[in-house]
Amino acid sequence: MCRHVGYLGPAVALSDLLLEPEHSLLEQTWAPADMRGGGTINADGFGVGWYRADGSTARYRAAVPMWTDQSFLETAREVRSGAVVAAVRSATVGMPVVPGACAPFTDGARLFSHNGRITGWPDSVAKLAAKLDVVDLLTLEAATDSALLWSVLRQRVLDGADPEAAVPELVGEVVAAAPDSRMNLLFSDGARLVATTWTHSLWVRREPAAVTVASEPFGPRAGWREVPDRSLVVADVRDIEVRPLAGMGE
Ligand code: GLN
Repeated sequence: MCRHVGYLGPAVALSDLLLEPEHSLLEQTWAPADMRGGGTINADGFGVGWYRADGSTARYRAAVPMWTDQSFLETAREVRSGAVVAAVRSATVGMPVVPGACAPFTDGARLFSHNGRITGWPDSVAKLAAKLDVVDLLTLEAATDSALLWSVLRQRVLDGADPEAAVPELVGEVVAAAPDSRMNLLFSDGARLVATTWTHSLWVRREPAAVTVASEPFGPRAGWREVPDRSLVVADVRDIEVRPLAGMGE
């Protein structure tokens, strides 16, 4: 299953965050250490979203293995940011391999990634899809579970929902409709990271004035803490809160 990373803290070069560390996201593209529930490598594409100093976002995505994209590998040395969400993708069987299927998804000021799959797709989530209006459905970036999840979450957040409530609520709805789904979500508004664990690995790292959330730890091992399964993580540069996702999927 895909691997993702969220970072908030002092501005870093994308290459220092994603390419250079031991067992970096780049290495997790061909040698992930903890793939649960299928998939061996994450070579169906990748994406990196980052915040500029004015709070707006930029994004780079491609439906190729990250290690083959020389232009990205070079450009990553030149781009610096203090808030980043990045992902490498192992497409779920039957889902298209296109740039629009690569996380992070965005609406401009927010970034979102999904590590996992919805079982019984798409029938199992017909009710959830019906909550979207027709235009949202027709303009989904890709016919994938992750793109649908983003469309639903995005709408709710734009309507004023607090992501700290909307993210776990979405996990609850999906696992009720489609048990055995894998729902590690990662959302950022540039100031906080909101993430869930639901059957996939997730780690958090605190450094002075920085926080990182990642499917697999990278760089020096000191400071990384594994997040228990079925948890909600809410983190900013000062604090990391991990709460159990109670009362779901029973
Ligand atoms: N199901 C999603 C997709 O195909 C995410 C895949 C994953 O986590 N491996 O894009």
